Amino acid sequence: MREPIIAGNWKMFKTVSEAQAFINEVKGRAEIDGVESVICAPFTNLPALVEAVKGTKIKVGAQNLHWEESGAFTGEISGAMLEDLGVNYVIIGHSERRAYFAETDETVNKKVHASFKYNLTPIVCVGEKLEEREAGQTKEVCKLQVNEAFRGLSKEQAAQVVVAYEPIWAIGTGKSSTAEDANEVITYIREQLIALFDVETANHVRIQYGGSVKPNNVREYMNQLSIDGALVGGASLDPNSFTQLVEGA
Ligand code: PEP
Repeated sequence: MREPIIAGNWKMFKTVSEAQAFINEVKGRAEIDGVESVICAPFTNLPALVEAVKGTKIKVGAQNLHWEESGAFTGEISGAMLEDLGVNYVIIGHSERRAYFAETDETVNKKVHASFKYNLTPIVCVGEKLEEREAGQTKEVCKLQVNEAFRGLSKEQAAQVVVAYEPIWAIGTGKSSTAEDANEVITYIREQLIALFDVETANHVRIQYGGSVKPNNVREYMNQLSIDGALVGGASLDPNSFTQLVEGA
């Protein structure tokens, strides 16, 4: 049995005091046995968040990392630095980073390897653009991104990865993939993992859906056999809405 995982992606939102106030609001509420809840916040919030979630079930994630341990990489943050803070998760390859910050399948793979080196669980984002979907290339695009992201991982590492299937046209747009369509692509992604590793490894990997998930539609996704949770942007910013998402899982 895979434990469902609801991860909030705060993107570039919230100051430190707003982040602390959020945790105070969700403490004891967005904590449900059998569901993992994670907040992926801007780097500036991470020390305060790690402190604020102590004694709760809520985990903290970053939204990016550099693959090197240290060096002349102005503006970057390493996995070693995140591990030192006590961060548990890291989002890798979000479509906004692929689109605006030159993230490639190659850098995604380097970052996935770095996350394991520093005991961080990667949440690897894959998904197609609207024109790719319209051209019938959804599965092909996801297959390539999954193959590249998992390249060189051991079975033990692969089993720990969380994959977020996020059709790009559904992110922040209010347009969501139907639960059935998302389930079909996610089932296909798991088939790729079986081909790359084996059934046992693939069955361990948690695969989330992401793209305009809200409290009022989260259950539709969670009712699907292959969907193990959600990566949520906009609806994760409000404490009540985040709590409802965790309850919905
Ligand atoms: C995201 O940022 O990964 C995301 C899915 O955003 P939203 O839920 O706002 O569509």
